[in-house]
Amino acid sequence: MRKKQFKAESKRLLDLMINSIYTNKEIFLREIISNASDAIDKLAYTALTDDKVGISRDEFAITITRAKDAGILTVSDNGIGMSREEMEENLGTIAKSGSLGFKQAMEKQEDIDIIGQFGVGFYSAFMVASSVTVISKKYGADTAWRWTSDGTDGYTVEEAERDYPGTDVIMTLKADTEEDKFSEFLDEYKLRGLIRKYSDYIRYPIRMEVTKSRKKADSPEDKPEYESYAEEETLNSMVPIWHRNKKDVSQEEYESFYREKFFDYNKPLRTVHFTTEGTVSFKALLYIPGKAPFDFYSKDFKRGLQLYSSGVMIMESCEELLPEHFRFVRGVVDSQDLSLNISREMLQHSRQLTVIARGIEKKIRSELKTMLEKDREEYEKFYAVFGRQLKYGAVADYGAHKDATQDLLLFYSHKQGKLVTLQEYVDAMAEGQEKIYFAPGENTQRLAKLPQVKALENKGYDVLLFGDEVDEFIPQTLMTYSEKAFCNVTTEDLGLQTDEEKKAAEEKAEELKGFLTFVKESLGEQVKEVRLSANLGDAPVCMTPDAGMSFEMEKYMKRVNPEMAFGVGRILELNPEHTAVRALQKAMTEDPLKAKDYAQLLCCQAQLMADLPLEDPIAYTELVCKLMQ
Ligand code: ADP
Repeated sequence: MRKKQFKAESKRLLDLMINSIYTNKEIFLREIISNASDAIDKLAYTALTDDKVGISRDEFAITITRAKDAGILTVSDNGIGMSREEMEENLGTIAKSGSLGFKQAMEKQEDIDIIGQFGVGFYSAFMVASSVTVISKKYGADTAWRWTSDGTDGYTVEEAERDYPGTDVIMTLKADTEEDKFSEFLDEYKLRGLIRKYSDYIRYPIRMEVTKSRKKADSPEDKPEYESYAEEETLNSMVPIWHRNKKDVSQEEYESFYREKFFDYNKPLRTVHFTTEGTVSFKALLYIPGKAPFDFYSKDFKRGLQLYSSGVMIMESCEELLPEHFRFVRGVVDSQDLSLNISREMLQHSRQLTVIARGIEKKIRSELKTMLEKDREEYEKFYAVFGRQLKYGAVADYGAHKDATQDLLLFYSHKQGKLVTLQEYVDAMAEGQEKIYFAPGENTQRLAKLPQVKALENKGYDVLLFGDEVDEFIPQTLMTYSEKAFCNVTTEDLGLQTDEEKKAAEEKAEELKGFLTFVKESLGEQVKEVRLSANLGDAPVCMTPDAGMSFEMEKYMKRVNPEMAFGVGRILELNPEHTAVRALQKAMTEDPLKAKDYAQLLCCQAQLMADLPLEDPIAYTELVCKLMQ
């Protein structure tokens, strides 16, 4: 029979895995058992709606058989099985769901030890076996197939015999070496330990024939003789981890369950295990991951929790259980109040599901709130990873979820030099301060130097520096927080002037009308208006957008939809007290040509300070050089 080759990437991974000396080889058993359990899940699910399956729930089992002399360990299941194509596809390539993150980690040449922690799946059998044979019969098919491989040199597939649907994974263990005793994996005690450690919660019995000893029936009481006999025993407790009592589950168990279930080798940041009794009762085991999946902020990412009904999985990922703003949460939910036979479509609209989803949202929110209040450092770690999602949540659906999210948001406070909540900002507002000031931009260090921010700083007012694109949408959505209005310092009047100051400013503008007109004419279409400013502090000029949209929003629009984007009018504001502006004013009468250059120079500077690109940087450079000569 002709051997088929593994795909190139699979081969490379295999080599790495098989030859890795760091690896925790024993995890192969967990992987094989977990596949068996998944396969049974699938058939059990099919059986809900298809009565031809003809196998009752309590007949599902995973069986371990040992052929000690031949050095063969077999794991069998009566699950859904695989067709020939599925065998080739699933066992001949590694680019499968769970392995993807692993592959990426490999490509980045990260620590090889991750193999031990990661769900590497079927291939891990080759860490302990010199050859693996898989015999499988797909439910509903007539033929069974035998897949055989030594792990390095491709594989063969041929027809085989199997009475009923399911799969046998037959592993011929490698010969023992100095470092590795592979024969241990046939040892009863060892196998018991491994199953207890890694697969205890598997919901189907994992059975194995074990040796027991009993008193010989005919041996005398005072001189008992014993004989050994073989008996099949179930080695796992079968209680899913979320059904167990919280106090009986160790943090390690929670974490290893998380890793296996969700293929994330990073520690979860938080584990939330709870039970709710009521009109709809449910148990939930939720995790807040420590890191975001690589596609988290893309459209491809699908939120959802695994849904069980009395320990039977009915949906791999139920979107309706999680609100979008908490989509980073992973976990399982189990409710006996959900009917097993309900169709997916009906389930998605069921009242029970809505009740559960509400309970889950509340729980996550209170958990985050507690973390924010009691463990700020941890919360900031969380926020660095998923904060942006909370902000999206606050602005999504025209603010429909703002009550759930606004108190969880953090922004950088210029005055306090750290992240603060909106409540903390409001609580620390200075005497006389009426508004929540914010400055949007890409770079908070740069924002801190804005003249408007400086002007507020001089008054003792704090400014929130918004560094995220989505930030600016938040004031627009919330409108107010704690009855305080928001004020965008780059677009709005800061409201710092008294009535007298305002009057004086108007008079000054009237007085300088000719000068302002001169500057506007010098700059032509580059600016929409030139006016005096009260917000400038020590800076000579600044650029502000005309009403409505900030420059940051303009940039954002250009990025997300260049066709729809339009330019925001630029208003050049001058500080009449500044020496540079005075110099321009003087030049206007003494040397109008030079004054024109000065106006251009100040206009460019205003652009730069507002973090706006110069239309013609070369011309600007030439201008500076010309004026220096
Ligand atoms: P993963 O479990 O992460 O998808 P594996 O390499 O462990 O990756 O398995 C690949 C695929 O092979 C599984 O997704 C499943 O479709 C199939 N498979 C493996 N073991 C079995 C089994 N015992 N019964 C049915 N299908 C199986």
